Amino acid sequence: MKVASAVKIGDMKDPDPEKRGVVEILDVPVKKPGAGEVLIKVAYCAICGSDPHVIGGIFGWEPPFGIGHELSGVVAEVGPDLLTDIKIGDRVGGNFRNTCGACYYCTNAMEQYCENATEEPGMAEYVLWNEKQCVKLPDDVPLKTGCLIEPTSIAVRAMDKTNIKIGQNVVVSGGGPIGLLNLQLINIYGAANLTLLEPNPARRELALKYGAKHVFDPLTDDVRAETMKITNGHGFDVCLEVSGIPSAAELLVDIAAKCARLVYVAQYPRDYNLPLNLYDQLYMKELDITGVFVSPYTFSRTAQIIGRLDLGDLTAVVYPLDQVKEAFEAHLTGKYPKVLVQCNPNLE
Ligand SMILES: [Zn+2]
Ligand SMILES: [Zn+2]
Repeated sequence: MKVASAVKIGDMKDPDPEKRGVVEILDVPVKKPGAGEVLIKVAYCAICGSDPHVIGGIFGWEPPFGIGHELSGVVAEVGPDLLTDIKIGDRVGGNFRNTCGACYYCTNAMEQYCENATEEPGMAEYVLWNEKQCVKLPDDVPLKTGCLIEPTSIAVRAMDKTNIKIGQNVVVSGGGPIGLLNLQLINIYGAANLTLLEPNPARRELALKYGAKHVFDPLTDDVRAETMKITNGHGFDVCLEVSGIPSAAELLVDIAAKCARLVYVAQYPRDYNLPLNLYDQLYMKELDITGVFVSPYTFSRTAQIIGRLDLGDLTAVVYPLDQVKEAFEAHLTGKYPKVLVQCNPNLE
């Protein structure tokens, strides 16, 4: 079967083509489902903002390795001894991480830090998952939007960590796919003065469509002054940083209200340290700062809510698996909120 694979590690945007990371289709054997496992015929796999970082070598994996973790598909084969009622023909999405359930972290409600987690590349014709990774897609969720269960689960996990209360002032920094999904979820929840900070005008436009009340360009607008105007001088009660940009990470500290919750949802450069004045921000302001690492315990809830989200703009650009290079080129232009790869035709 065909698997989109990183065959050379490197910055995908390196001006020197010799140094750039390279993605190619490799041919590998299809695995046979063992006990508790299901073989999924992949319909769609979306490119994640983290994929170029993985190809860039952030995890130190040795090439070649398969990529892709935001997928939907149809169960093609099931192994023996399933505990759930998953069967051939079921339409599924889910969690790309197969956790062990037995280690210290799995048995203490921190399965995101499982010591034995494994993952199979999902930008492929088939992927082998444990049944517990799968969630069935509701009938009204097509496979094309179903592949967004994983990124939406990140937004759900970010919501979990906000401890948000109805009517609080909320800012989202970064209008990429996760930021836009978070805007929609926060809007459903009921925030006041929902604000997006994003330099790209097309993404600010989408944010307004998804329920943002204010949008600002953090590079040209005086975000501190605007924040004080909007929030009667108090700042934002809930601040989500989704851009992964250090300057944006720092701006949020300044525009947070007293006792605000700051959730850093993105993957930041490994050598970046956030400057934080502990007297001003923790003693005088009691800021509550946290992060998000993948999305444990969110998938079945995400499947229940995803049908209420507007995912048309996030699923508009689709490339076939054979054109995975072109798909990554399109992703790297930053012109599209999301790029999908269709791994098998004619699956609905
Ligand atoms: Zn992702
Ligand atoms: Zn574990």
